[in-house]
Amino acid sequence: MGLLHYDVVLNSIPPGVKLVVVSKMRPVEQIEMLYDAGQRVFGENRPQEMKAKYEALPKDIAWHFIGHLQTNKIKYIAPFVTLIHSIDSFSLLQEVNRHAEKNNRIISCLLQFFIAQESTKYGFSWQECAAMLKNPVFATLKNIKIAGVMGMATFTDNKALIREEFKKLHGYFMQLKTQHFSTHSDFKEISMGMSDDYEIAIEERSTMVRVGSAIFV
Ligand SMILES: *Cc1c(COP(=O)(O)O)cnc(C)c1O
Repeated sequence: MGLLHYDVVLNSIPPGVKLVVVSKMRPVEQIEMLYDAGQRVFGENRPQEMKAKYEALPKDIAWHFIGHLQTNKIKYIAPFVTLIHSIDSFSLLQEVNRHAEKNNRIISCLLQFFIAQESTKYGFSWQECAAMLKNPVFATLKNIKIAGVMGMATFTDNKALIREEFKKLHGYFMQLKTQHFSTHSDFKEISMGMSDDYEIAIEERSTMVRVGSAIFV
């Protein structure tokens, strides 16, 4: 790995869009190279791996958790995680809140929506999310902060389909912003776009792209 691909990706992202470098399965040495080049935000999808990297690397790195999170593994990341992109159920959110409280923290979270035409991807449906927001328990969760939404498009060459799915996520974001979070200035992120589709995602108003393989080639 050289820094060439990192520079190419970084230069293709407009100001106002945050690059989360997805470093899952990559060694600490490669993360250090990117750190030395100025990168401070890294995404991981396995709690124990993220914890080990957090312990080995400089403490001003912002660690974003991007994968499906099992409740029994929240404990590994709760003390330090900056943003959890992958809240996909009310019960997970409640457990994250519990661990955040234990650690005396407020943990920022994104609501992951199911937008793809695949049965393998996690995420809320609109109805599930609406039910959660209406539940009185939701308003009692004081140690989490909902910072926006996240979604993954279908893995396909069909760019029109990918664009349609990102438009749908942007629509969910706007609807939540006006109906539930209009007074919450922290509700502002749309995490969408990976190596193969981040350029479309940015056109559809992504604020955060999660890019791995295009950088670590
Ligand atoms: C692996 C992963 C990415 C990065 O995928 P690339 O295609 O390597 O850029 C982004 N988001 C999630 C949720 C991932 O699991």
